[in-house]
Amino acid sequence: MPIRVLPDEVVAKIAAGEVVERPVSVVKELVENAIDAGASDITVEIREGGRRLVRVIDDGAGILADEVELAFARHATSKLETADDLVRIRTLGFRGEALSSIAAVSQVRLATRAAGEEVGTLVRVEEGRVVHREGRGMAQGTVVTVENLFHNVPARRKFLRSVATEAGHISNFVARYAMAYPEKRFSLLREGRRTFQTQGSGDLYEVLIKVYGLEVAKHLLRIDHAAEVQSAGPEGTREIELGGVEAGPIVSGYISPPSLHRASRKYVTFLVNRRWIQDRMLSYALNEAYHTLLPTGRHPLAVLDIRLDPSEVDVNVHPTKGEVRFLHADRVFAAVQKGVRRTLLHQAAVPPIARPWLESKAGEERRRRLFTAGQGRPSRGELALEAQRTAADLAPSQFQLPTARLPVLRVLGQLAQAYIIAEGPEGMYLIDQHAAHERVLYERFQAQRAGMKVASQTLLEPLPLEFTPQQATVLVEQLGALAELGFDIEPFGGQTYLLRAVPEPLKELDLQRALAEIIDDLIEGGMPLEEETRLITSVCKQAAVKAGQTLSPEEMRELVRELEQTTLPHTCPHGRPTMVHLSQAQLEREFGRR
Ligand code: ADP
Ligand code: MG
Repeated sequence: MPIRVLPDEVVAKIAAGEVVERPVSVVKELVENAIDAGASDITVEIREGGRRLVRVIDDGAGILADEVELAFARHATSKLETADDLVRIRTLGFRGEALSSIAAVSQVRLATRAAGEEVGTLVRVEEGRVVHREGRGMAQGTVVTVENLFHNVPARRKFLRSVATEAGHISNFVARYAMAYPEKRFSLLREGRRTFQTQGSGDLYEVLIKVYGLEVAKHLLRIDHAAEVQSAGPEGTREIELGGVEAGPIVSGYISPPSLHRASRKYVTFLVNRRWIQDRMLSYALNEAYHTLLPTGRHPLAVLDIRLDPSEVDVNVHPTKGEVRFLHADRVFAAVQKGVRRTLLHQAAVPPIARPWLESKAGEERRRRLFTAGQGRPSRGELALEAQRTAADLAPSQFQLPTARLPVLRVLGQLAQAYIIAEGPEGMYLIDQHAAHERVLYERFQAQRAGMKVASQTLLEPLPLEFTPQQATVLVEQLGALAELGFDIEPFGGQTYLLRAVPEPLKELDLQRALAEIIDDLIEGGMPLEEETRLITSVCKQAAVKAGQTLSPEEMRELVRELEQTTLPHTCPHGRPTMVHLSQAQLEREFGRR
């Protein structure tokens, strides 16, 4: 084929692919425009998870009548003049690509009235071109309505997930931006119903109550950057002028005490100069600060508001600006880690959990070098290697997985409140009590479901539960599946639900927490299992005895008996081993008897 310059519509669609991946991308671009326009009240309205409709209403500066068409042109922006401006970006947008990209893959109507203009303007845009224009009386601000996203890009439409999933991403996004801009009032309407709203009081804490509920929020610890400035002293990593952003990183926000943690990382929000971003290095810094304070595999809740001179952050590295690059990554890393650590040590009563393999000097030195020495940040490869090394410190070397069916075992005792030591005809077995119990419960659930009779326990009094908007979205979608497992849950208005009954094995648990975690597992969707299986797996994970629980000899015998009855005794439902086996022969070799 001869080389040709692509027609404009094709170029626009290609560019749109970068910016607009799914409905939440549209919401993001429109909300960012509203914020850049100085809006103080922002309403997001969606239908069918945003596929049918996304509308963002703001009370910002509006667009001048004779610039409305221009706003839809590619690379048309009011936020940059010269390339030099790129190094000191103070607005959320600057590429001038959003409106043109969105218009290339949907049907758009934009109504706007700029400050000082008598009437507003309404335009309709099809295939990226303004096809209709009229005057319109309206309040100052802008209303952008985006309908039938990807109607002309079937390939993209195919990749959209369920309405609940897409809507979940959107409520999650709105919640994060409400945290980034507590002084603005955010509302979210789904199918015409208001599901989320903040006051715009300027108090981040009030937003956190809205997002996480008072029960969680009341435990959070505040990171106060003023305290940070005073103690920044000798390390000399930063010199902060109070009140200004024109200096080293300032970290403030809220974090959870060590007693409050989650199985998911979803509760961590990093805001860099009021932009919500994902960053592996910052996640690592946060985890390092909780080092030895949280059980393995658990994550804190945190909202970290990081401010630094705009010239020290490159936001132009990612098409949707979801990632940034720091000029002095080591300083940002140190500021986050220290700010969090100091807050934890000063404010939280800390029950340390010993994790000797992580305490090792060598490991610490290694990680310090990895993250604070250079100016760049560690690559995914380097992080993976570090994770491997840490895991290697832990790996049981000479044990191996048994492959045969489980013989009858005799329980000898419990080790580290986590493992059951047992003896069989073929040597010694070390059984992970949690994983084994998960296996037992999993097969019991499956058997009960096959027999159509799941053992459910009705609560003496219905228990009100609170969820985040994203959790509530998923919960509603799963009510039927949960009912089949023995849950009785009904909506009670807003993000509150009434729990009336639970599957028998869950009855002793902290149910608010257990359910939140089950839903988080579903949101995470890490495992390649179909949803129903994932749900059961996750319920079993909650119900199973935990490591750290002392079991009586009778309880251990009972658990081992039940494990012997299962069809797949050697792995838990997640596929991890339930036990390691040291054969008679191996024992003899170890002791030099052979
Ligand atoms: P960018 O945000 O990168 O400048 P966009 O395509 O998102 O590019 O928007 C193009 C221009 O349209 C913006 O620079 C701004 O001047 C104007 N604009 C878009 N949305 C709004 C809004 N909600 N209020 C005021 N002006 C807006
Ligand atoms: Mg924009």
